Amino acid sequence: MLLAVDDKISRLYQLCLAGVTNCVLVACTWDEWHHAFGHLNMKSLHYLKTHNIVNGLEVHNRNADLYQCKACLAGKSHVQPFSHKSQRKYTEIGEMTYTDLFGKVDQKGPCGEHYFISFTDAAKAHSCVNFLKTKEANVVLDAIKKYVTFIFTQTGKKVKCFCFDSSKEYINQEVLDWLKLQGINYKITAPKSSAQNGIAECLNRTVIECTHSMLASASLSLFLWPEAVQYEFYLKNICPTHALHDNITPYEAFWNHKSNVSNVEEFGAKVWVLIQNKHINKLQPKAKQHIFVGLGEHSHAYQYYNQETWQILTSQNVTFEKPQTRADRSFQFNQAPPPNVLLLPLLEKEKEYISHPNKLQVDPEMLPTPSTPQVPPLHAYYTS
Ligand SMILES: [Zn+2]
Repeated sequence: MLLAVDDKISRLYQLCLAGVTNCVLVACTWDEWHHAFGHLNMKSLHYLKTHNIVNGLEVHNRNADLYQCKACLAGKSHVQPFSHKSQRKYTEIGEMTYTDLFGKVDQKGPCGEHYFISFTDAAKAHSCVNFLKTKEANVVLDAIKKYVTFIFTQTGKKVKCFCFDSSKEYINQEVLDWLKLQGINYKITAPKSSAQNGIAECLNRTVIECTHSMLASASLSLFLWPEAVQYEFYLKNICPTHALHDNITPYEAFWNHKSNVSNVEEFGAKVWVLIQNKHINKLQPKAKQHIFVGLGEHSHAYQYYNQETWQILTSQNVTFEKPQTRADRSFQFNQAPPPNVLLLPLLEKEKEYISHPNKLQVDPEMLPTPSTPQVPPLHAYYTS
């Protein structure tokens, strides 16, 4: 029986089907991009697309509005565009770097992390993050040294000045002595005294809000918080920002080429990873299901979480399993926020929940023990 007639290209027939000519085969809906971009607000997402700021942002079902995202509702916010309002305009990489430390996060990360420190270049709005086990002087100094080396190696520019918030005790004499020795200036600002010193702090808060939504949306263990934060920083660099005017992302401003977002997937998505073991039995499955937990800024490899070994691994040979319906998203919306938010330093809006303890249905028995070296997956948190 003849089904269709069309052009033959090499050994394949290209079919043009009436009525579906606008269908993009490799594409996502706005809803899927909202999840993939770590719950980025729709205004920024539309801006990325309409101004052609990144490559690979294909959208089908363009006119369909985003349904009300329950993970965002639970966080009580759609994440606003990253705003950088500084009084002075910086033009060169390294001229000014805003930095801030976040923590302590009670739940230990896969490598024992309890803190993260962010660095944002004022000229390019490009941010980097480092995870720390403690906030001892030598640990903080080590993270600062790594950033200074990264900037010099990648751009040939020297870091000339850091801006710290004086309310944080992590900037100690050892750090200041090293900066002086290197000829690096520093500016210590009083908390909330200027628009500038709030930039790094605001960034860290925004990242944590997105991290809440990402972990809750995928019903993942809090133990993966550093991976979610790392991915959120990656996403932040490929999203629009008010700090840059020429319709470019921080990524493009820093690296001088457009980012390609075609490999951006939702944090916590189910991913099938090719088993690369030569001794595998031919009748055994060739791939195994794991959880996607991020991308490196310059890595073509996908990071995934192996639930059996509790390891974070990388692979280039992966296939993403697309949810069949929205109902497949495992997030369960209850009166109470996801239990993981209780383990992070509280945001103003979360304090409200604490003042109404009867709303909380957290079984203390279910909470992870901070001293446990490796915490098993806690999917049970969200499924009851
Ligand atoms: Zn959302």
